[in-house]
Amino acid sequence: MSTPQNAPQQAPQHAPVMIIGSGPAGCTAALYAARAGLKPMLIRGMQPGGQLTITTDVENYPGFVQPIQGPWLMEQMEAQAAHHGTTLITDHISKVDFTGPRHLAYGDSGQVYSADAVIISTGASAKWLGLPSEKAFSGRGVSACATCDGAFFRNQDVAVIGGGNSALEEALYLANLCRSVTLIHRRDKFRGEKVMQDRALNHPKISVRWNSEVDEFLGGPMGLEKIRLKHPDGTTSELVVTGAFIAIGHKPNTDIFADWLSRDETGYLVLPKGSVTTTIPGVFAAGDVADSIYRQAVTAAGMGCMAALDANRYLERLQHS
Ligand code: FAD
Ligand code: NAP
Repeated sequence: MSTPQNAPQQAPQHAPVMIIGSGPAGCTAALYAARAGLKPMLIRGMQPGGQLTITTDVENYPGFVQPIQGPWLMEQMEAQAAHHGTTLITDHISKVDFTGPRHLAYGDSGQVYSADAVIISTGASAKWLGLPSEKAFSGRGVSACATCDGAFFRNQDVAVIGGGNSALEEALYLANLCRSVTLIHRRDKFRGEKVMQDRALNHPKISVRWNSEVDEFLGGPMGLEKIRLKHPDGTTSELVVTGAFIAIGHKPNTDIFADWLSRDETGYLVLPKGSVTTTIPGVFAAGDVADSIYRQAVTAAGMGCMAALDANRYLERLQHS
């Protein structure tokens, strides 16, 4: 049914501060903005809580001697922000308008949001290899989330593609469930931290295929059966597995900001060194969306804190100008 042309337009939902994205950066920004009395709205997106909701043990978030669960940590962060006066909004932003003075964001729900200051904390999403066979076997053996799909491969042979912390962590997680885990890495050296490398390399169920790239995922109607690997000398080999987990990093979620803010060649928002301000007055960015180097929960949270403090100063200046 089409909307009558003279139907009244829904008024934008306004708050002094709008935070787009509810990972560690967004939740921390919301906490600080709320405690400063700015009554922020936190737009949660399609992955409320962000990337940590797809992991299990988190051992390096300060303050906890024992490992904590990623989803639990993010529940706590969101609840803390709400407790101090943040309005949580379940919506995904598909377009922004930073012409100002009030900045606008358009939700998939049809709701328009407006704010005097915006904090962008849209984080990053899993990258795929881009092979047609990867798409063909997606959900039938190929996955990008071991904690989500690992249990389907209990006592089976699986592979993890990648050489960073995510790949090592996925391999260790899967080793608790599966018969064997083969890490497939395109180089002869991992990128992940030494402590993670040591754990994976010393695990009896984990082996590594170095200098190997996926050429094709192969299988039949029942799903994935094997992977053809290619090597730098031009040779190929096969690995028999029923599950393959892609863990080759993440792409920053910045497409909706492309017309407004500068991005680097991989899509990260470019900010002045050590700062969370953008070239647009009243628009700030925090976390993985603007950080291609550290990409940790604690650094994202730290940037979220900086962005909220800077947004508060910006609003104070605006009031007195
Ligand atoms: P994200 O956590 O990526 O959150 C982004 C948020 O933005 C989400 O809520 C999403 O819904 C929202 N969003 C995106 N687009 C839109 C839109 N258009 N509209 C509205 N909302 C939107 N780091 C550690 O320190 N320790 C660990 O143990 C650890 N383990 C990890 C395990 C895995 C498997 C992965 C993938 C990462 C891990 N990391 C870990 C890294 C850590 O998760 C990230 O550095 C951190 O989550 C980044 O936080 P963020 O707030 O910047 O973004
Ligand atoms: P990453 O560090 O960028 O590593 C990506 C890995 O995938 C690299 O080894 C890379 O190979 C490989 N790769 C990339 N594109 C590929 C392709 N097309 N084909 C084959 N291989 C490809 O990403 P990440 O592991 O997701 O980690 C992201 C951030 O989150 C990091 O800062 C990490 O420390 C953090 N994190 C932390 C933890 C933890 O602390 N426990 C856990 C997970 C993630 P090359 O090495 O050859 O480039």
